[in-house]
Amino acid sequence: MKTIRQLTLLFIAAVSALTLTAAEKPAGPKGGRLLESAPLKAEFFVTKDRKVEITFYDAALKPVAPDAQVVAVTAEPAAGRTALELEKTATGFVSKTALPAGEPYRVVVQVRATADARAQNFRLDLNLALCGECQRAEYACTCDH
Ligand SMILES: [Zn+2]
Repeated sequence: MKTIRQLTLLFIAAVSALTLTAAEKPAGPKGGRLLESAPLKAEFFVTKDRKVEITFYDAALKPVAPDAQVVAVTAEPAAGRTALELEKTATGFVSKTALPAGEPYRVVVQVRATADARAQNFRLDLNLALCGECQRAEYACTCDH
């Protein structure tokens, strides 16, 4: 009996270790950075014209409507912080304006399940250069370096 319980604990520990490793740098389906927001995951993606696109996904990474989710994106280049105005899309949000020049710089994405919910903050280093290893932009790089 005791052995079984120990084995179960070991198994649980092993599984959570695996989950942690896998969750460290998850890949966004569009090539962006997947944010571990709850209840829906959100992908931060920079379009060709430098707009920020936020896409919401369910647990199976299927794009879903944002419902009452609220998102705020703040760019923090050396020239000063800029809050990007967002408009709703079928599966998330897109910024009305392009990201300011001067990257790499910090971008803060704030996700709320509803307007009254506690904010979940995600800080990204906005670097649009391509990573030679995974061929994703550095801000969305899934490599271990
Ligand atoms: Zn990479």
